[in-house]
Amino acid sequence: MNTDTTGIHHVTAIAGDPQRNVDFYVGLLGLRLVKKTVNFDDPGTYHLYYGDGAGSPGSIMTFFPWAGSPAGLQGTGQLAVTAFSIPEGSLGYWTDRLIDGGIRFEKLTRRFDDTVVAFADPDGMKLEIIASPNDDRKPWQDGPVPAEHAVRGFHHVTLSERDPARTTKLMTGTLGFRQVEEGDGRWRLEAGDGGPGNLVDVVDGSRDSRGRMGVGTVHHVAFRADNDDHLLAIREEVAGLGYDVTPVLDRNYFHSIYFREPGGVLFEIATDPPGFAADEAPEELGRSLKLPPWLEERRPEIEEALTPLLVPGVDR
Ligand code: ZN
Repeated sequence: MNTDTTGIHHVTAIAGDPQRNVDFYVGLLGLRLVKKTVNFDDPGTYHLYYGDGAGSPGSIMTFFPWAGSPAGLQGTGQLAVTAFSIPEGSLGYWTDRLIDGGIRFEKLTRRFDDTVVAFADPDGMKLEIIASPNDDRKPWQDGPVPAEHAVRGFHHVTLSERDPARTTKLMTGTLGFRQVEEGDGRWRLEAGDGGPGNLVDVVDGSRDSRGRMGVGTVHHVAFRADNDDHLLAIREEVAGLGYDVTPVLDRNYFHSIYFREPGGVLFEIATDPPGFAADEAPEELGRSLKLPPWLEERRPEIEEALTPLLVPGVDR
């Protein structure tokens, strides 16, 4: 069986205050809160999932809000930047929206064939918006951003690596990525059907100091597997190369394995099924706190420990 991933599944990062995180990713970026649950390994904290209307793989940005925890250090051995995709004609709408929201952004730049708007979220995590002519994915129709301008999902993620060749070798040799662009110490890889949502840039971070995980940094990036058999085939291949790979874990909305790539970025491989409608109706996504069956009996104590969240456009 092939061990090619079909693209980005999700990105998971560490945030500070959960309400500020919801206000930014729903209220300003206009993503939908598609799942409100807890960190299965630490049920006293939220795990918030944002995405398009359906929570499609390739659109899902998730956070563990660790309010009061120390900030991380951005550097090499990390997923350095997460880029979202918007329609080509929506650039003016978005620069106005960022200005109105008080978000400072850098002077617009060109990268390969795209225009890049670079800014940071309230915890200092680096983000980009890329105006792209070739993204026909359907955005969330009922969000605070008009659908014609709304974020389509990820454009790409950027990995900062001390030894870019070592990481690209794993990605092209085992995970099915193909190199499609190169320039200025940046190698662009694509998986699956290619295009926005299936792109990973590896950049030369050999002159940067090593990053350290904490608030405002990415915890891991997940790539897509079609199903459990595909996931197991990838697991066997990666384990055969000598990587320390976790057993298959049940994340309720997908099944996952994790391993650290040679440069230090934590990689997850996650199945597309069952998806976010597994435990609530598509129109109700993100409305109530969902717990996996094995945590349901602890619900009163878990709810007690969490600060209630107000979701822009839903709760106010
Ligand atoms: Zn994950």
